[in-house]
Amino acid sequence: MTSSRIHFLTTGAFRLDGGGMFGLIPKTMWSRWTEADADNRIALATRSLLVESRDGLVLVEAGCGDKWTAKERAMYALAPRTAVDALAEIGIDPRDIAHVVLTHLHFDHAAGLTREDAGALVPVFPNARVHVQRQEWIDALANKSTMTRTYLRTHLDPVAGSVELHDGMATPLDRVALVPTPGHTWGHQSVLVLPDGSDASTPPVLFAGDVCPTIHHAHPAASLGYDMLAYEAMLSKRMILGRALHEGWLVALDHDPEHALARPTEVDGRVGLVPR
Ligand SMILES: [Zn+2]
Repeated sequence: MTSSRIHFLTTGAFRLDGGGMFGLIPKTMWSRWTEADADNRIALATRSLLVESRDGLVLVEAGCGDKWTAKERAMYALAPRTAVDALAEIGIDPRDIAHVVLTHLHFDHAAGLTREDAGALVPVFPNARVHVQRQEWIDALANKSTMTRTYLRTHLDPVAGSVELHDGMATPLDRVALVPTPGHTWGHQSVLVLPDGSDASTPPVLFAGDVCPTIHHAHPAASLGYDMLAYEAMLSKRMILGRALHEGWLVALDHDPEHALARPTEVDGRVGLVPR
């Protein structure tokens, strides 16, 4: 799907425990939204945006990449597909990417920054600057997380020389604004993609990241078991969904297997999401 020179890319598929993905929501409720497999795992996607900007091609999120053992692939039902595959399908070479923007540095967003080449780890996007919040970079290097195996140095160290650190709100690139949305991690950010200058009639698109990973997570109680600060995450979600409703933004969903894009709408006195 392409609009306003934004490409919505599905870069992979994986599965995580349904209870972990819906936090406080009981299974009697979330099982009406999505089906669990025999291991209680639900289907998830990894998504990226590719934005054609005056600062070059901007990729939002790098996905899981391909540095995975057969055992790890089985644990997450990780599909053998990467952001590079998704880019190749629209004729883009990884060397063409000028900037990669990451919501945060968990493996399903940042492991795709690096790959193995003849036993060495190298950047997948060799010409790209990598944009992340300073807090996120510091926490990732310190492995500050309740999940011990998500901030992997194998996807961080090879790009350390290309990282651009941001402190809070920023518009570092044409069409690309960073909106801090702490909660899932301390340094989590969402990415607001502004309309192309030649096509101002199309709405801004907010790539929410893991503050609202699927359409069902618009529910205020749908925290993630993986959130470092669950209450903060709820406030961040309320803030961005409220802004999306009042400012006419569409919301891009990073892990929803069915819906890449949703529209905010008022439901029962709160902001819900419906498929676009
Ligand atoms: Zn994620």
